Amino acid sequence: MVYFKHEKLSERIYRIIDITGVCCYLVIGDDRACLLDTCNGIGNIKTYVEQMTDLPIIVILTHGHLDHMGGAGLFDEVYMNHDDMPVFHKHGDMQFRIEDTNAHSPMQIDAEIFIPTYQGDIQDIQDNDCFDLGGITIQMILVKGHTPGMMCPLIKEERTIIFGDACGVGVLLFDEFSSSVLDYQKSLICLKEYENDYDIIYRNHGTFTSHKELLDNVIECCDLILTRQDAHFPILFHGIQLYACHETKTNGQGRRDGKEGNILYSLDKVK
Ligand SMILES: [Zn+2]
Repeated sequence: MVYFKHEKLSERIYRIIDITGVCCYLVIGDDRACLLDTCNGIGNIKTYVEQMTDLPIIVILTHGHLDHMGGAGLFDEVYMNHDDMPVFHKHGDMQFRIEDTNAHSPMQIDAEIFIPTYQGDIQDIQDNDCFDLGGITIQMILVKGHTPGMMCPLIKEERTIIFGDACGVGVLLFDEFSSSVLDYQKSLICLKEYENDYDIIYRNHGTFTSHKELLDNVIECCDLILTRQDAHFPILFHGIQLYACHETKTNGQGRRDGKEGNILYSLDKVK
């Protein structure tokens, strides 16, 4: 069974896509490599990325959701902002991982194929912490919203940022861990301070890339929601009633006006 495929994005950055269609990124320095997220933990991502580099590999999780931390259990050195530990613990429950993944996956995946959740000590990351891989530096930027400890890795020498689930085409703000739209907008305005440091934006779902206007578009979404001028387009997401800031083409995906950047929120997450 083939669980992964990959694309080389630059001399130092690879995108690894798992069988469900979620991706993570491998950054290779002169001294060590860093896996930014680990996909769902379906199949052995460690063996897979070891085909790309002989260097020691550390893992940085952008947040604690199961489709990002699932493969972390295969590695020894794992980092994540500790504000996401409650998210990690909920999503790390094996029954939850197996049921939730299969509920969203195009195919049924046997329980025994899932990599057991990482049990070691996760090392904390604070806003602006840097990881020197040798010749390449990853700066971690806190962008609370989707989850309380959500971080965006800025790969400085490559002028590339991973927005991940922090800012995208359908940012989800609805569960017990996510911020209000008001607080999320403050996070995005802080993120905008780094706008001159990157030219390339990558994400973990869908098209995997975005134009730089994405950030302004999502900040505008916050304004529209907060002033009740958004489309308030109803979307049923896993049985939960959410509203999209902009009308979408299919259920929650793509904007009807063709622009990129949208927020799917529940009514209790506005302010
Ligand atoms: Zn997520």
